[in-house]
Amino acid sequence: MKQNTIAMNLHEHQLHYPLGDTLPEPGTTLAVAAGDHTGLTPAVKWIRMALPFALDHINLWLLRDEIDGRQGWSVVDCCISVDAAKAQWEQIFASELEGLPVLRVIVTHMHPDHIGLAWWLCQRWSTAEHVCRLWISATDYGVARIGSKIADSFGGDSAALFFASHGLNTPETIDQVKGRASYFSTLVPDVPRQYRRMMDGHVIRIGERDWHCISGYGHAPEHISLYCPSIKVLIGGDMMLPRISTNVSVFDVEPESNPLKLFLDSIDKFKPLPTDTLTLPSHGKPFTGLHARIEQLHDHHRERLAEVLQACSEKPCSAADIMPVMFKRKLDLHQTTFAMGEAIAHLHALWFDGQLQRTRDADGVYRFRV
Ligand SMILES: [Zn+2]
Repeated sequence: MKQNTIAMNLHEHQLHYPLGDTLPEPGTTLAVAAGDHTGLTPAVKWIRMALPFALDHINLWLLRDEIDGRQGWSVVDCCISVDAAKAQWEQIFASELEGLPVLRVIVTHMHPDHIGLAWWLCQRWSTAEHVCRLWISATDYGVARIGSKIADSFGGDSAALFFASHGLNTPETIDQVKGRASYFSTLVPDVPRQYRRMMDGHVIRIGERDWHCISGYGHAPEHISLYCPSIKVLIGGDMMLPRISTNVSVFDVEPESNPLKLFLDSIDKFKPLPTDTLTLPSHGKPFTGLHARIEQLHDHHRERLAEVLQACSEKPCSAADIMPVMFKRKLDLHQTTFAMGEAIAHLHALWFDGQLQRTRDADGVYRFRV
């Protein structure tokens, strides 16, 4: 999901980018992991598609596959449902598939830039002989299905009330939040009617390699990363980004959630992976230094939590009061909604940990105090 409110990594120099600044050209791919012994087919090809947001691109992955004796490819993640993305895919199909079909569509999680075109890809590549199946966690499948069909499932009146209860209650912002009720369904107009479930611990055979599913929480309902031990490659999705920190927000549909704890616990699940793991992130460039990045993210959130706790020790604070503490620059509406979600996530981490108390004041606004 577009997430430009989050912090840039100030310690990016601790990470290593094996491909330097080389990026795949639009409509082409770049090999990011060595392939079989012949070296002809790379294990993973990197696709980088443009997004019309402040976060201006998403990385997608092509993996050589074979299903039921049929040769082809698996794709990981899809881009949003817009014609420009379909056109980029068609270029990829024409030049990068070695004349073979897409056999399955793997989606790390239900955010629009990841699942948007899954319906189109599955339709585009299904035949009488072979169904091009969507693979995703059950949780994210269900949430995406609801989001694509029920207009105000994200945003809208409920989101406006939720933000107001956390202190973002000017008529202008409330109207704007209400007006964004169709945001998700515009970018994800449909989701395939059937899917194959991915769960933590599942091992998926893709071509000649095994990929292990690692679930992650706090960013999406049930994000699945994929790790291949034989080539030491982690498809990290949005759970492990090198340059920006993953958006971790409380949303109106689950107003008492504690996503920051879920997120920090989840990234620790990557710790047993080898130190020379190559991480393929959904945004940014493939990198090594996974363990350094895990620690950086812990440090980053520890610092934010300390700032939030300090502010609340000076006076009871709503999430709207906390936003300028955490985000020191002017935010537009879209950034503001993300920043609010992140501010509430940090307040909730401290609240659930017993370091803050929550009261709802006479004005209907939740305030947090030590
Ligand atoms: Zn996401």
